Amino acid sequence: MKSICGHSGPIQRRAMAKAITLLESTRADHRTQGDALLTALLPHTGRALRLGISGVPGVGKSTFIEALGLYLVRQGLKVAVLAIDPSSSVTGGSILGDKTRMEQLCAEEAAYIRPSPSSGTLGGVAEKTREAMLVCEAAGYDVVIVETVGVGQSETAVHGMTDMFCVLQLPNAGDDLQAIKKGVMELADLVVINKADIDPAAATRAQAQITSSLRLLGFHGNPEHDPHNAQQWTPKVLQISALQQQGVDGFWAAVQDYRQMQSANGRLAARREKQALAWMWERIDFGLKQAFRAHPQVQALLPQMQADVAAGRIAASTAARNLLAAHMG
Ligand code: GDP
Repeated sequence: MKSICGHSGPIQRRAMAKAITLLESTRADHRTQGDALLTALLPHTGRALRLGISGVPGVGKSTFIEALGLYLVRQGLKVAVLAIDPSSSVTGGSILGDKTRMEQLCAEEAAYIRPSPSSGTLGGVAEKTREAMLVCEAAGYDVVIVETVGVGQSETAVHGMTDMFCVLQLPNAGDDLQAIKKGVMELADLVVINKADIDPAAATRAQAQITSSLRLLGFHGNPEHDPHNAQQWTPKVLQISALQQQGVDGFWAAVQDYRQMQSANGRLAARREKQALAWMWERIDFGLKQAFRAHPQVQALLPQMQADVAAGRIAASTAARNLLAAHMG
């Protein structure tokens, strides 16, 4: 898959795109080369700020990411934008696939934009994006933004690979309640109410409402959000207008505050460690399940076991034990 930026960039960017294409390949020999590449790159990774951006389609993610990206590039930073769009494997499209998106940012030498990998399960897509993130970091990108749409479990996947997870919201109470219900707010480190220019009063109401909801969630939800501990972070709620490029500096200041606190209290290292181990186990689970399903004894026994469980002739747990025994034997 090619970068959506139409013009040819510097050699480094082309090399990066090549490396990511290699890592996205499903061919076994490519995978071996890809693993060797990752091992070589790994010591050069980890210095970037990993920022997750989520929100329903139409909330203004690409407008905001472009405004933020341009702001950061003007500050002399290199910015990579990656995406996770689980729907892209179904539709063949991608949230970053539309070439008219982020045109200005695309034109910047210091920016690299890549659409969502478009094949496989969410776990597979997330893995490719994690690996692409490592390539960007090794290439010296200072900020890696991972965008996702509010579909399926994609927010959880992005939360699981970023240092800070931001949820974009519309200044509309109905949507806010929906997001809270879905549990997305529990993941948020920062909530950004976009399109504040359309109805400033509604945006201020939404800001107050979400702030109080998050305070409540702090007691039960994300363990990283403990309002009683001064060393910890209570998620902030900001208002912006991505279209008018207002509030971007405030957003970036909040991100830096968070980063400072995360580094000072050791949460950054702890979060990344937890993410890397969870990633490893997620891929082990996936690999084991694949090997299990491909095992000839399992394949021979599976149709009968499934039929027996479905018809109530055998308990599900007994069938599982029989199949696992077939796999081991
Ligand atoms: P995405 O689907 O979340 O990436 O949303 P887009 O960035 O494509 O934006 C959807 C629409 O909302 C576009 O027509 C944007 O111009 C518009 N939009 C985005 N941000 C703002 C904003 O701050 N104010 C206003 N009035 N419109 C915005």
